[in-house]
Amino acid sequence: MNWLRLRSRGRGPTPPPIRIGAARDEGLDAARARMVREQIAARGLRDAELLRAFATVPRHVFVEVGSPYADEALPLPVGQTISQPYIVALMTDAARPAGGWRGTHVLEIGTGSGYQAAILAELGAEVVSVERHAELSESAGRRLADAGYEGVRLVVGDGTHGWPAGAPYDAVIVTAAGPSVPKPLLDQLSPDGGRLVMPVGSRVHQELTVVERRGENLIPSLRDPVVFVPLIGEHGFGE
Ligand code: SAH
Repeated sequence: MNWLRLRSRGRGPTPPPIRIGAARDEGLDAARARMVREQIAARGLRDAELLRAFATVPRHVFVEVGSPYADEALPLPVGQTISQPYIVALMTDAARPAGGWRGTHVLEIGTGSGYQAAILAELGAEVVSVERHAELSESAGRRLADAGYEGVRLVVGDGTHGWPAGAPYDAVIVTAAGPSVPKPLLDQLSPDGGRLVMPVGSRVHQELTVVERRGENLIPSLRDPVVFVPLIGEHGFGE
């Protein structure tokens, strides 16, 4: 729920505004614009569509505690986290299909808050997002609807199996860390230049890994070191 609505809902005397971190001295729109400028563009991500999406999606709708526009990851229920804005932008940029996002089919593994899914939907992709915790998926569904992204398809289950019904995907974004890229996800990637982005490594430290598929050829490249919560499932880590 968004604090602007909270402010305007009460009957009787108007309750004092609930103020969240970065929004203390500036409006949410200004805080979001500053996030885009200082955390994303200043670090070298300059794609105009990408910046527009981050300037548009109301991150505060997806965040329960902490400063929604601060340069940090924030906690979600059941020990999960919503990634730092720059990391969401970096992964989105790395997964961008050659012809842009509009009308592409995209699979996200690890719905969490729904923020990454909202960014992809804002970019014009058709998004399927899989989450293993039903309660997270349900609250993400409410937040996505609140923010105007009802079109995102949410699935509850072990995302290491992907979601074959929607394949092939132009992009697959895995927002949890695994020991290797699950084979079902590579099988469901479009052979026509599909791109997969995933943190691969140990439970405590990973490299952001990008794989591009050309026919049966898989072309991997490594990007930045990152730290994500574990991907738990048949083709991921154990419980
Ligand atoms: N993309 C999210 C952040 C995800 S945090 C956002 O924008 O907020 C990683 C998420 O992956 C957690 O919610 C965790 O429950 C989920 N997860 C871990 N293993 C999974 C699996 N095998 N299948 C689906 N979701 C998984």
